[in-house]
Amino acid sequence: MKAAPVTIFNSRNMLVLVVLALALLPLVFGSFSISLLNDIGIGALVALGLVLLTGVGGATSFGQAAFVGIGAYGTAWLTTTQGVSPWLGLLFALLLTGLAAFAIGALTLRLSGHYLPLSSIAWGLSIALLFGNVEALGRHSGLSNISPLALGPWSLADPRSIYYLIWTLVGLACLFSHNVLQSRAGRAIRALRGGSTLLASVGADAFRVRLSLFVMAALLAGLAGWLYAHMNRFVSPSPFDVRASIEYLLMAVAGGLGQLAGALVGSALVMLLKNGLQDVLPLLSQRGAQLETVVFAALFILLLHHARGGLMGFVTRWRQWRTARQPQAVPRQAPATPLARRQLPSRGTPVLSVERAVKRFGGLVAVNDVSFAVNAAEIIGLIGPNGAGKSTMFNLLTGTAPMSAGRVQFLGQDVTGRSQREIARLGMARTFQHVKLRPHMSLLDNVALGAHARANCGMLLAGLGLDGAEERQIFAEAQAQLERIGLGERGDELAGSLPLGTQRILEIARALAADPVLLVLDEPAAGLRRKEKQDLGELLRKLRDEGVTILIVEHDMDFVMKLVDRLVVMNFGAKLVEGVPAAVRADPQVQAAYLGDGV
Ligand code: ADP
Ligand code: MG
Repeated sequence: MKAAPVTIFNSRNMLVLVVLALALLPLVFGSFSISLLNDIGIGALVALGLVLLTGVGGATSFGQAAFVGIGAYGTAWLTTTQGVSPWLGLLFALLLTGLAAFAIGALTLRLSGHYLPLSSIAWGLSIALLFGNVEALGRHSGLSNISPLALGPWSLADPRSIYYLIWTLVGLACLFSHNVLQSRAGRAIRALRGGSTLLASVGADAFRVRLSLFVMAALLAGLAGWLYAHMNRFVSPSPFDVRASIEYLLMAVAGGLGQLAGALVGSALVMLLKNGLQDVLPLLSQRGAQLETVVFAALFILLLHHARGGLMGFVTRWRQWRTARQPQAVPRQAPATPLARRQLPSRGTPVLSVERAVKRFGGLVAVNDVSFAVNAAEIIGLIGPNGAGKSTMFNLLTGTAPMSAGRVQFLGQDVTGRSQREIARLGMARTFQHVKLRPHMSLLDNVALGAHARANCGMLLAGLGLDGAEERQIFAEAQAQLERIGLGERGDELAGSLPLGTQRILEIARALAADPVLLVLDEPAAGLRRKEKQDLGELLRKLRDEGVTILIVEHDMDFVMKLVDRLVVMNFGAKLVEGVPAAVRADPQVQAAYLGDGV
């Protein structure tokens, strides 16, 4: 491992500097600047949620201000009408925001493409309208005389004192979010952009991951709303409308959707700019407020064209350039006990049986009445010309696509119609013909994702930093699988930097991290060099000797013939023949199907 270059610009020093500066600012600044910093902190909480939800999770929300509003109105209503402590108001605000997000998320998060952001505009608008029309919430005049916060005998009514609470909460929220991203839940969140098939293949539920992320982002907004209400001591509908939501999104984009610090930087940028514009624009025109919208719109467009990474994107690039930073392997402690392993079925017992499987795509019958069986600790090859239906067959038996007719039995259970996630959790792990890796995650993180179903820690434990023991187990397993495929030294590199052939092998490591009974490999040797193919063959044989069952699609006949115990040949969706390699090679039907394909 290379030593980190010595520099005063490393992240730790930067962090200490930022915290010190924030702690000392109230001693230097006047009340006006402190109030501005308070607004920046509150904005940063909301933007932090958006960096997670939109930047990392890939779900754009144009309604985040509505959650701020729910938190603010929740505590405002409870504390003014019931006269209870604002701290009870905090619990109420978070509960309300969480429930609202859960309900809205459950209804909308299955929407794909543009429909999800569009739906967020709809609920964002309706919630803001609700605030302005409910009698108990004071309609358009809002609620006033909200009590200020107090910590025991200390009143936090003064901007200078609530400042410390706001920024402590911002710090804690950043720490929590950082911990979550580095955890089992965080790997699933970071894999969301890879699609639900990828997540289901490691036994995770993309919808649930997205829903918990959505709730977490909303809770951050709700917390911001609670602070807002007790700081301003007055709430009205307009700060929570869709225009405000767009401003929060602008913060996240301007700061940088790719990293947590982007939320802080973006909030500061937007708030300072807004403040500056409010001073300058009225001098230029009487319609200052409208001009402000125009300036923000122009800024948004500029950012999307020239700085998608936001301000933090530039900072990161500059730092990489200054320090020529090498990726660093994180030294990890060995776990007390390794992850529990599955009991593999004894050699020769039936593992998988496909009975009369049919798959139709409209008029095309991609798989037509195919049956075959696989026994424990066997390697079965599925071969056939391009378009024969092999990948489709794999999708049927892994539950990735529903069957039109037929049955699949796995480990003595009928898994026909079961979800891909359930089948994966039973012990079937797969790789994809079109590689599904997360290019911006490290090799180690990609492989650790494979062990998802073997662990339990969720977002809350991870955020609080209580998942250490389990994470050590997961990473020990991931490291072991990386070493198995010969990439043990390169765990901290990004998966996207590997050549395509090696990415396929990395998918095998991810599948192995699930401790599978049956390994389903779709063209794993495509794009590999001779030596790499030999290594792969050796690895697969070794796995078979350890009792793993393997089903493989492969085009390289030399490779397949030397590797497998039996072959199933498909052509035009139907099964042509089945048998040991030598018999299949000699079969005239197979030779005809492959004519010119070099068998
Ligand atoms: P192989 O993996 O053997 O090359 P595939 O299983 O990918 O073959 O494809 C079998 C046939 O099914 C092809 O004709 C292909 O065009 C068709 N096919 C595969 N997936 C789909 C789909 N999602 N929709 C429509 N047709 C499909
Ligand atoms: Mg295929």
